[in-house]
Parts: sequence; structure tokens; C-alpha cells
Amino acid sequence: MAKHLARIHGTEEDKVNCPFYHKIGACRHSDRCSRLHHKPAFSPTILMKHLYRHPVRQAEMMGGVMTTSEAEKLVDKGKAQEDFLIFFEDIYMELSKFGQLEALHVVDNLGDHMIGHVYANFRDEEMASDALQVLQGRYYDGRICQVEFSPVTDFREARCRDYDEESCARGGFCNFLHVKPVPMCLIRSLEDDSEEDRRRHVWEKEEEDRDARRERRKKRREDRGDRGDRGDRGDKDDDRKRRRYRHRDDNHNDDDRRRSSRRDESDDDGGGRR
Ligand SMILES: [Zn+2]
Ligand SMILES: [Zn+2]
Repeated sequence: MAKHLARIHGTEEDKVNCPFYHKIGACRHSDRCSRLHHKPAFSPTILMKHLYRHPVRQAEMMGGVMTTSEAEKLVDKGKAQEDFLIFFEDIYMELSKFGQLEALHVVDNLGDHMIGHVYANFRDEEMASDALQVLQGRYYDGRICQVEFSPVTDFREARCRDYDEESCARGGFCNFLHVKPVPMCLIRSLEDDSEEDRRRHVWEKEEEDRDARRERRKKRREDRGDRGDRGDRGDKDDDRKRRRYRHRDDNHNDDDRRRSSRRDESDDDGGGRR
């Protein structure tokens, strides 16, 4: 029985859990759905609801009431694509501050329950959780960020294959994800930039720690020099520890060593005890 339930979970056969919410993270019935939307407490994926300003919806709002196809005709496609790529870059760099992104998908769907949705899949849950906590309720381009954990971790099941082959007959009102295509070269360069940013950020954050470690190492060296082999407690454990320290010191790069030896020369505090 349990096995059966696990197998049908989130499928059409499952009469309890909503297959759309389970697979796509969005269901057109939203809270009125007759089946359960099982919202995860944690996930490596966050959904930022309606964050992207879809150009067709913008045109509808500007031009008063009109049909979607009329609004589509009003959209300047070149400008819309340019705006989209700027949005994508912005969001990518903003989100990657929290950790490595495995996927960032902005949807092209027009249905009210999906329009403007942005899915960000991180390398791990903790990164997603940090992003959710920081971004929740913040504003981007005049829009409030409504962020939730999404059950979608495998986008192959969520994406509309027909859209990816430019042949979805349902158009913008399809209920599967129409993931807006992004040039691969842009993604690669964003990956590189964000990786560099993260490294720099970590480096800056750790600089203080490094200084403190350098000071500690310096004191240890001075202690060893001052007190010789510390005959009072010269047991084997102590020797091992000392060897380990020496080994660690040997591993530091030349620059590091030069810097600390310069300090040794100039510093005349005589290695005060901590
Ligand atoms: Zn549902
Ligand atoms: Zn479709």
C-alpha cells in the first residue's frame, strides 16, 4: 500500500496530491484546488512569484482592455528581449550571492497563476533558504518579492517540451513551464562572474581571520623560540603537535611567509602572551 502511494504520488492517479503543483510548482486552481498542494518546508529551489514584468501583460495594462493577441502585436520584440536579458543578468547576479545556481528559469507563460514566475535552483537547500530569508518582502523594480520553496527540483518534468521545440499549440496559456531561452554564452559568463564575486567576497570576509591566524602562528613560533623544547612538558604528543604546526607553516605560500617575516622584523612587541 505504502509503495503504491509512493509510486502514484503527484501523478494523475493520485487523488490526494495535485500533480500540477507537484510537478510544476504552480496550479491554475491555486488555493481552491481540490487536491493538496504539498508545500515543501525546504528545497534547493525557490520560486519568486510574478517577479518578471511580462511584456505582453505590460502592453495589456498600458493599452486598456484588449485581447492577448492584440497586446502581443504591440510588443516591440527586440526591446522586450533586451529588457529580459538585463533582468536575467540582474537576478542571476543577485541570487548567486547566496551560492552556486544550478538553474535560473524565467517563464514566458501568461496564465495568472504563472506569469512572471522565476525559479532558482541552488546547489543546496541552505543556499536557497538564505536567499528566501533575505529576499522575502524586498522590492525589485517596484515589485515585492514573494518567495517560496518550490517542489520542483527536476525541470525536465516541469518544462513544456513543445515550447522548447517552438511548437506549443497552447501558447502562453499552457500549464507547463515555458522557460524563456537564454543564450548559453551569457549563462557561462554569468557563472564565471558570480564565481569570481563569491571568491572575492569570501576572501574579504576571511581576511580578518587570516590576519588573526597569522598572529597566532607568529606567537607559536615565538613561543617555540623563547621556551626552547619546553622540557617541562616535552611528551610525545607535544612533539607531534609542534611538527604539525611546523608542517603547516611550511605550506604557506612564499608571499605569506615574506609578509610575516617582514612583520617579525618590524614588530617589537616581543610576542606578548595571549
Ligand atoms: Zn492544484
Ligand atoms: Zn506549452
